[in-house]
Amino acid sequence: MFKRKNLECDNCKREIQPNEELVVHLTLPETKKMPVGVLDKILKKHANEIYCKRCFKIISS
Ligand SMILES: [Zn+2]
Repeated sequence: MFKRKNLECDNCKREIQPNEELVVHLTLPETKKMPVGVLDKILKKHANEIYCKRCFKIISS
């Protein structure tokens, strides 16, 4: 699924590893502009925030 392993957690700046859960806050684009492609590229371009699960628990608690 991930071709490049360079998605980072916005809080701890740690690289999100394959098979690791992540939390993404994403603004859904208009249907016409719906992104198509490799997931990590889409997330890097469109995600507002990316957190590893551990940081999300800390932030949301
Ligand atoms: Zn983190």
